[in-house]
Amino acid sequence: MSRNPVQILTSVFGYPAFRGDQADIIDHIIAKRDALVLMPTGGGKSLCYQIPALCMEGTAIVISPLIALMQNQVETLQQLGIAAAALNSAHSPEEQERVRTAFLNGELKLLYIAPERLFAGGFLDLVSRCEISLFAIDEAHCVSQWGHDFRPEYLRLAVLHEKFPNVPRLALTATADEPTEKDIVERLGLSFGRTFRAGFDRPNICYRLTTKTNGTSQLLNFIKSEHNDDAGIVYCMSRKKVEQVAAKIAATGRIALPYHAGLEPETRQATQARFLKEDAVIIVATIAFGMGIDKPDVRFVAHLDLPKNMESYYQETGRAGRDGLPADAWLAYGLQDVAKLKFLMQNPDKTLARQQLDRTKLESLLQFCESALCRRHLILKYFGEDPPETCGNCDNCLEPADLFDATEAAQMALSCIYRSGEMFGAGHIIDILVGAETEKIRKFGHDRLSTYGMGKGISRPDWQSIFRQLLAHGLLNVDMEGYGGLSLDESCRPVLKGDVTLELKKSPARPKGEKSTARQSRNFANAHEEALFNLLKSVRLTLAKEQNVPPYVIFHDRTLIEMAALKPQSLSAFGELQGVGRSKLEKYGATFLKAIDDGAA
Ligand code: ADP
Ligand code: ZN
Repeated sequence: MSRNPVQILTSVFGYPAFRGDQADIIDHIIAKRDALVLMPTGGGKSLCYQIPALCMEGTAIVISPLIALMQNQVETLQQLGIAAAALNSAHSPEEQERVRTAFLNGELKLLYIAPERLFAGGFLDLVSRCEISLFAIDEAHCVSQWGHDFRPEYLRLAVLHEKFPNVPRLALTATADEPTEKDIVERLGLSFGRTFRAGFDRPNICYRLTTKTNGTSQLLNFIKSEHNDDAGIVYCMSRKKVEQVAAKIAATGRIALPYHAGLEPETRQATQARFLKEDAVIIVATIAFGMGIDKPDVRFVAHLDLPKNMESYYQETGRAGRDGLPADAWLAYGLQDVAKLKFLMQNPDKTLARQQLDRTKLESLLQFCESALCRRHLILKYFGEDPPETCGNCDNCLEPADLFDATEAAQMALSCIYRSGEMFGAGHIIDILVGAETEKIRKFGHDRLSTYGMGKGISRPDWQSIFRQLLAHGLLNVDMEGYGGLSLDESCRPVLKGDVTLELKKSPARPKGEKSTARQSRNFANAHEEALFNLLKSVRLTLAKEQNVPPYVIFHDRTLIEMAALKPQSLSAFGELQGVGRSKLEKYGATFLKAIDDGAA
């Protein structure tokens, strides 16, 4: 086998070039030096240790906490003709013995293992008897107590360096805030290594936010018009809603499965397996779903409720489009969601400091939702980068919002809240402003307020938009008792007094983010090409079922799209496609060439 990284990239993986820092990282590891790699999801972290593993003598040990992921990686590597195996509790004792023997005999290029196994049953002694090329520590943020999935076993990984000082170590993660990064370097003893930090942008994800009118039917619309045969994830806040929404999507003829912590573990596992192994399954989930799923062809992530904060939003939407093809992050939210979340934040079980932190984080999210600026710019800035002002691939860039001088409207709203005693929700305040005749208004005598009917000239949806923006700008607060009563924030004073002008976004005629850019995710030249793509997909699915592996392990969508466009006629032309290396050419070339032929007939 060649020892040249570029040659391995093309002949084994079928990719034409390295991305970003990959080449430097690989050289660094081959030179037997330690490194920390911070790269976003889908950035291509795995190649950073897989290629050195193939270039160097001995076995690479990959430490990974998630069995499902491990399995996936091993299947992917085996499809490429690489000797890889995993040691974990999902395997029978006989299978584990086979893997140990192969390892001892030096037959494996990569061995995946969970950290607790590494330290159990004298495994480290086994390691010291073998030639080891490198240690890769995946999900390295698990070593940090700051992180969201601290795992105590990770702390013990520090001994690797003491026991095997000459074996290079590569720690990898997609979580990159500063305290976590410092922790990783410190606790794994990587201070003499180098840190490679990639930007956190996910350029292929289109961020789109829309105002909620009827959330579920907006979602159904979005799915039908833009992702009619795509896999996706829908996030909702409660289990009940998860069940309801899944049923409604299923009623349209799609496969939609609920996923939440209240389901039996077996059911959840089966759901996850279907999501991976079938085409176009939609999962409707609480946030319990997603950790450890690296399905590359998730074409959309939709939120029917607001996520907790920007971190959750970015992590959840990040599960879309790992394969680099266009994907949508779609979110619908309304005034009620804001009130609900603000209320949930005021959990008396939490310390005051924690409540304050949660509030600040929620406010950043609200500002993000209501902003007229480029979404990507706001996200990346939030995470400490210095991004360009516009991206051209978010709703605000694609359909810029108009601003208007909202000072007068805001003054009306604020004084109406003030005069009615700072205890009513937005619905009632809007009723007063537009001069509605309701029971509640009569009961409280609010038709005698000077602001009664004063805002007639503004439509109800426009008022809702104004209230959301006032909340997002922090000029209003929501009360503790959970009735969603609004009160004035100290910071609204200059607006109320007319010392400053306030610019707000006009609410668009059609809720934004609902513009049908149907089928934008794949640009087929014509209907024939699309039909061929679908044919190739069915061939892939059959092959995957025969081997009981996910379809993307055979070929990624990207490869099939290229296949449908270029329609190669010979094995050598087939071998030129992205994602077709030697092993896959041998295994599948003939089958797909025949399908291309059949498609032309
Ligand atoms: P991460 O672990 O960083 O989330 P992966 O290692 O799973 O990302 O890579 C994401 C996808 O990008 C994979 O399908 C991988 O095969 C592909 N990929 C990685 N590097 C390259 C490259 N240089 N050229 C083309 N595709 C690549
Ligand atoms: Zn943008």
